[in-house]
Amino acid sequence: MLTLAGHNVNAVSVGGLETCIELPNYKLCFDIGRCPPSATRLPTVLFTHAHTDHMGGVIHHCATRDLTSMPPPTYVMPAENEEAFLEMMTAWRKLDRSPLPCTVVPASPGGSVDLGRGRTAKFFRAIHRVPSIGYAICTQKDVLKDEYKGLPREAIRDARLAGEAITTPVETVEVAFCGDTTIDVVDREPLVRAARLLILEVTFLDDKVSVEKARAKGHVHIDEVVERADLFQNEAILFTHRSVRYGNEWAEARFKEVLPAHLWERSTVLPFAAPWT
Ligand SMILES: [Zn+2]
Ligand SMILES: [Zn+2]
Repeated sequence: MLTLAGHNVNAVSVGGLETCIELPNYKLCFDIGRCPPSATRLPTVLFTHAHTDHMGGVIHHCATRDLTSMPPPTYVMPAENEEAFLEMMTAWRKLDRSPLPCTVVPASPGGSVDLGRGRTAKFFRAIHRVPSIGYAICTQKDVLKDEYKGLPREAIRDARLAGEAITTPVETVEVAFCGDTTIDVVDREPLVRAARLLILEVTFLDDKVSVEKARAKGHVHIDEVVERADLFQNEAILFTHRSVRYGNEWAEARFKEVLPAHLWERSTVLPFAAPWT
């Protein structure tokens, strides 16, 4: 378990093979390529796109929750995937001869879903070879207006009792996850640049795959992150989804070598775990 910008993150991500990013404190995860046992306890899954390394584990997630009498899950996914996903669930219900209950929420850029307790997942367009949605988890809190800060407690209480609006809602972008995407999402989306924790794919780390080829595949090349190093306002960045060809030690050294110090000091390179090491 990692703790980044105050958020607990349980993540596995290997390009083309599996991705699942769990945020246990928010009771949700992003994508389920293969379903880790810990993810079955999370009732909400925000799917970025329907490639099997991001959605292939959904039946295991749904069936395990059903089997263990947990409430039916909610699956948020690009609106373009809804119809085929429902057809797939119908087929699995026939195969499994079980109800496999779940709720499907279609997501389009600019939309959002209420997560309860002042939390919202906002949707933005990620740029990949198939329809893709990125997610920004935002929290809203009421904070004291500037003009009341520093006043004695009694004065603030009196103002509140007199019916004055002493607080104002403030929204914080806590976590952004882009799924598989080209780097353009960083240029286009303020939510991505502002999130306290950004989880960003960087699939290719050297010249064996050029920047042009990485873009054509719908992925990020490390050189493109270096070019934009000054854009990232994030407190912490977790780099995920690299190709299995880059081992843990080499990848860590590569990021450290090419990223400017002001970015590297906020960066974490997600290590591979077994069986991918
Ligand atoms: Zn992928
Ligand atoms: Zn993909």
